[in-house]
Amino acid sequence: MPHILVLGGTLEASALARALADAGRNATLSYMGRVDKPKAQPIPVRVGGFGGVPGLVAYLRGQGISHIVDATHPFAAQMSTNAVLAAAETGVPLIALTRPAWQPGPGDDWHQVPDMAAAVAALDGPPRRVMLAIGRMHLAEFAARPQHHYLLRLVDDPTEVPPLPHHAVVVDRGPFSADADRALMREHAIDLVVSKNAGGTGAVSKLDAARALGLPVLMIERPRLPPRMEATEIAQVLAWLGA
Ligand code: NAP
Repeated sequence: MPHILVLGGTLEASALARALADAGRNATLSYMGRVDKPKAQPIPVRVGGFGGVPGLVAYLRGQGISHIVDATHPFAAQMSTNAVLAAAETGVPLIALTRPAWQPGPGDDWHQVPDMAAAVAALDGPPRRVMLAIGRMHLAEFAARPQHHYLLRLVDDPTEVPPLPHHAVVVDRGPFSADADRALMREHAIDLVVSKNAGGTGAVSKLDAARALGLPVLMIERPRLPPRMEATEIAQVLAWLGA
């Protein structure tokens, strides 16, 4: 029986896991285990890094994996690159379930930057009140711009104090709504939103709220990934997996 490996850590991966369970497919969901209390899943789960490309190759062979579905976050570039390399080495077919990037529309005031370092560099001006909705991994980089007040929205309580002299933390793992985000931005007198171009619906509310409030957005573009087959809908992935 085919054995599908789903690389997860996203709402989309959890939705795919549900669809695979409903279809009675033999699938394992993998995530890194950085988030506390991840939600229960309807298919078997494995947790933690594989140990780079060699570790993933060994896992694919050891578990008899027949298909890889990379449903990681668009900014999980290392995992996605490793998956492409391990798929090539083992001949296991791979598809990515990904989300189209967000595009600016009427009323949006986006300033697009290529990566996190460029976002930090762009904050070289006078003090502002910045909503930093980028997760906790890159917060330390913003210590180079200590003049700003940062509103941090994080999935879990931070285990250590963020290295930003002026900040407030909101712990919430969503899904978020534009109304609530608008209220949050007002409450904290935010005048700039920093966002990764994640795409999808799970985190788009902050952009809707920024537009409604006329706030500028510093938008970090996605990392480049090696060429791979991509789908944006679960149905496409199920069709690719076949019977
Ligand atoms: P990353 O930089 O691409 O990955 C770093 C390392 O973490 C990988 O080399 C791998 O370790 C391990 N890893 C990542 N995803 C894994 C998975 N699904 N299963 C097993 N090991 C995994 O990834 P990241 O940006 O830190 O993201 C980590 C996880 O959080 C991903 O599952 C991603 O979907 C999720 N996530 C990320 C973001 C984001 O903005 N980056 C946002 C929401 C959710 P080994 O090399 O040892 O295999």
